[in-house]
Formats: sequence, structure tokens, C-alpha cells
Amino acid sequence: MKFSGWRVFREALTGHRGWTANWRDPDPKPAYDIIVVGGGGHGLATAFYLAKEFEQASVAVLEKGWIGGGNAGRNTTIIRSNYLLDGNEPFYEFSMKLWEGLEQDLNYNAMVSQRGILNLFHTDAQRDAYTRRGNAMLLHGADAELLDRDQVRTMYPFLNFDHARFPIKGGLLQRRGGTARHDAVAWGYARGADMRGVDIIQNCGVTGFRIENGKVLGVETTRGYIGAKKVGVAVAGNSSRVMAAAGMRLPIESHVLQAFVSEGLKPVIDGVMTFGAGHFYVSQSDKGGLVFGGDIDGYNSYAQRGNLPVIEDVAEGGMALMPMIGRARLLRTWGGVMDMSMDGSPFIDRTGVEGLYFNGGWCYGGFKATPASGYCFAHLLATDRPHATATAYRLDRFKRGAMIDEKGQGAQPNLH
Ligand SMILES: Cc1cc2nc3c(=O)[nH]c(=O)nc-3n(C[C@H](O)[C@H](O)[C@H](O)COP(=O)(O)OP(=O)(O)OC[C@H]3O[C@@H](n4cnc5c(N)ncnc54)[C@H](O)[C@@H]3O)c2cc1C
Repeated sequence: MKFSGWRVFREALTGHRGWTANWRDPDPKPAYDIIVVGGGGHGLATAFYLAKEFEQASVAVLEKGWIGGGNAGRNTTIIRSNYLLDGNEPFYEFSMKLWEGLEQDLNYNAMVSQRGILNLFHTDAQRDAYTRRGNAMLLHGADAELLDRDQVRTMYPFLNFDHARFPIKGGLLQRRGGTARHDAVAWGYARGADMRGVDIIQNCGVTGFRIENGKVLGVETTRGYIGAKKVGVAVAGNSSRVMAAAGMRLPIESHVLQAFVSEGLKPVIDGVMTFGAGHFYVSQSDKGGLVFGGDIDGYNSYAQRGNLPVIEDVAEGGMALMPMIGRARLLRTWGGVMDMSMDGSPFIDRTGVEGLYFNGGWCYGGFKATPASGYCFAHLLATDRPHATATAYRLDRFKRGAMIDEKGQGAQPNLH
């Protein structure tokens, strides 16, 4: 079914009896050309682009729970391409361009909203760093503007400009950044992939890989063995566990990241804003809730829930930046499992097993990457060559000394 204004009108006149399911619920076939493990945003986008751009007719996505039940449906929905390093910026700008055409591409309302993202800076050294980052963005064809204190004050007069422990000196603004409705992105990709013949199989956890003579033959699942010529794994926070079943130890640790939503408020924050002197980012949803987050919990875990110390830390960051947030009541918090890599950058690569490919290490920035990650992983799976914007995301980059350490923190997954 194609969605359109006309369709909504027609359904309104006929009692909304014509809407059909967004995707089928097929049983697994004995074998596929390509199996994608993980029905999050990245796995579903991979399947969509495999079918649409690379004309793959025999593709399945295997999801152990329900699609979008992982980080795809738990994130704070920020999209942006404000990166510094050569290995990253072209990839994230490619993703930004895909976001800009996504809803037309999917024929689905993913509520992509380019409301702008503003990174505040609070010291002269930070201004220099943000200037450098803005210049790197411009050199790669992205948009960036450096705002001074007065320009920030005009945009957000309620910030603490007068008595702040960390005075606001300005901000780096990317107007094309913003937000998208996270689970609608997963649903839109699922629908688009299903329409092109991809089998999306939920409640089908992959428990192992059948590998013979260094080549993958298929996957063991909770619904039996399924054969495949190629298998692409995109399971985010579960990467280490799933790849361990193929005998691989990854440069990834799993950590919890929490998100927070306040009660609904009148419109107060137009765009997305980040605090530069602590870790706090905030936007306002269309329903009026302030959606915000901060640091990961800082211990290894596969639990989709976090702990109180980080809630306190995030609340302190919010209060330091915009004291009026202290009047808002917190409605909900939840956690997701982050695949934190050693240098804070992801992997889209082949593995040592023929036919087995890996996509992961997204840390807590993988939502914005969803379109490009799917496109580039599909490119790799279909052609066996990395996409031009993802050539740096190799698993052996630590061995080669070619880290992509955007923050300059070193091998400290909890600090990226
Ligand atoms: C609180 C929070 C806030 C965030 N905020 C942002 C943000 O503002 N901007 C941003 O860019 N990023 C953000 N992120 C990160 C982003 O959500 C993730 O990097 C991204 O969603 C990961 O890719 P995915 O969507 O494919 O992951 P997921 O949705 O987690 O998909 C992986 C899927 O694999 C499935 N799976 C696991 N094991 C198996 C198995 N054995 N067999 C079959 N299936 C399996 C899981 O059930 C899951 O559905 C945030 C994350 C969290 C948790």
C-alpha cells in the first residue's frame, strides 16, 4: 500500500477499513542468499538497500525479539553530521543526505525534522576546537556556523548566561542537524524492505553459526537452522556475544546508556542543544516532553536499564545549563545497551570467516548513522568492497595504528 494524502482522505471516508499490515510475518525459508542478523535500524536499512540498490532478491532479517526493540527504539533521536576526522565526516554527511530524502525514499513519515543542533562552548580552547571541527565539516560539504554568545542568547534566552559556573561563550550550529522519530525509522525501513521481498522474521534469535573450512554456511537459530551464502551481523549492544559464537573477540565493550523524558511542556526548545562543559544533550519532542541524556553508566552490562548515579549526573548537567529544567517533572527513563568501540568509531567490515560480515561499534551515535550504515553494509555484502565513505571502518585498524579517535580519549570505551 502506498501512503499519500489522498489515501488518508479516502480511508477517512471509508471508516479506515482499508489499511493493511506494514510488513508480512513469514516463516523462515530453509536458505537465503543473504541473512542479516539483527532487526534494529541498521539491520533493516541494510536489507532495504540490499533489495533496492543492489537488487538482491533472497534476503532475510532475523530478529531475536521484535523490530525496533533494541537501541533503534530507545535513543534520543538526534541526527547530525558534525564530525571532525576524515574517516568519519564523509560517512556521516552521506548519512545526513540520505536522511534528507528518506521519507520520500521509504514513502513513510519518519518525522525527520531538521531543526538544527547547537553545540555550546564554554572556554577559548573549546572555541578553537569547535572552529576546527566546523571548518572540517565545511571542507567535506556539510554546513556549519560559529555563533557568538549574543547569537546564542537570541536563540535560547533562558540558558544560564549570568551566573554560570561554566559561562557560555558561543556555539557551533549545524542547521541541517535535528531529530527523527526513531521507531518510525525502523518501521519505515522494515516496510520498504518487506515490499521488496525481504523476509523479516521476528522472535528468531541467532544462537550460532555453521562454519566449515573457514566459510559460513548458515546460522543456528531458535527456529532451527537457516542456510545462507552470506551473513551480515548488525546486533549493536549484543555484538560481542553474537560474534563470540563465531569465535571472534571484538574491540568492543557493552555499556548502558539511559534516556530521559520530562512531562509535556509548552514549546521551549526549537532545536537540539548540547552542553559543552559536561555531558548533557536536550531537544523537545512534538508531544512537548524534553528528551535528554548524558553519559553512559560506565560499567559493562547487557541490561536494558541503568542506575541512579547517572540520573543524578545528567540532572546536574541539565541544571547547570538551563536551571528552569529543575521545575519540570521527569516522566520516564530507560536504558539501551551500547556497543562501545575502543576509539569511539564503528566497524563495517568483512571478518576472517568467508561470507561473514560485521557491522557494529556504534557507541551512542549510531542512530544518525542508520541510513549510511545500512547503505554501506549493503554495498559491502553485495559487492565485497567497502563503500567509498566507509573505507576506514576496518576491524584491523588498531593493529595498523589507524584509529579514528574523534574525541582523542585513547582506548577508553567508557569515555568516547
Ligand atoms: C538511550 C540512548 C540514546 C541514544 N541517542 C542517540 C542519539 O541521539 N543519536 C544517535 O545517533 N544515536 C543514539 N543512540 C545510539 C543508537 O540508538 C544506536 O547506535 C543504534 O540504534 C544501533 O543500531 P541498531 O538500530 O541497529 O541497534 P538495535 O536497535 O539495538 O538493533 C540490534 C538488534 O539486534 C537484535 N539482536 C541481538 N542479538 C541477536 C541475536 N542473537 N539474534 C537476532 N537478533 C539479535 C536485538 O534484539 C536488536 O533489535 C542512543 C542509544 C541509546 C540507548
